[in-house]
Amino acid sequence: MDAPPQDPAHAYHEVAAKIARAAKACGRDPGEVTLVAVSKQQPWEAIEPVLAAGQRVFGENRVQEAMQRWEDRREGLTLHLIGPLQSNKAREAVAFFDVVESLDREKLARALAEEIQKQGKAPRLYVQVNTGEEPQKAGVIPGEADAFIALCRTSFGLQPEGLMCIPPAEEPPGPHFALLGKIAARNGLAGLSMGMSGDFETAIRFGATSVRVGSAVFGARG
Ligand SMILES: *Cc1c(COP(=O)(O)O)cnc(C)c1O
Repeated sequence: MDAPPQDPAHAYHEVAAKIARAAKACGRDPGEVTLVAVSKQQPWEAIEPVLAAGQRVFGENRVQEAMQRWEDRREGLTLHLIGPLQSNKAREAVAFFDVVESLDREKLARALAEEIQKQGKAPRLYVQVNTGEEPQKAGVIPGEADAFIALCRTSFGLQPEGLMCIPPAEEPPGPHFALLGKIAARNGLAGLSMGMSGDFETAIRFGATSVRVGSAVFGARG
């Protein structure tokens, strides 16, 4: 049997309502939680209705793909880079994105700082933490997070706004969200980018200030 036809605008409103409900349920203002709609690998037919429904914040995991998709309709949008960034793409990333969530190593911090200086504009920055210490995953490990945040600030003049994590797929995410919150708090960082389609309500309970939701809004990726 075929899957029922997807209606992204409907799914988008559902996700937005779930975010509001999850926030209220733990005594938070729903306005404190930003929905980053992850449009990577989605066909335009899935994205267009969500844009038409009023969504303005989108997440992409590849620089080139994001530029192809959004370059001609960039106006009024807030675009987040949520995928790994090679330092040789720092120029494009600084020029194109409003937020870069994958700052995780010294070489990249240096490249971003140089581009910010050159271009006279700075994306908002999140340090990615590999809370599960998974070898295949990007992010600074928790034991090195404090030192890396300090390095970003003192050596490169970068002012990260928060932390981002992607918990291991096969573990309950709560402890990872709690750990990210703890690292953020002791480093004076207010932003917590955590929670995806399967766990954004949990993430909100643990203090997420932005959730990155793809398939629950747009449907399964192609
Ligand atoms: C793809 C992706 C998401 C969205 O995942 P869904 O499960 O489709 O919601 C969120 N965060 C990152 C870093 C991603 O790469």
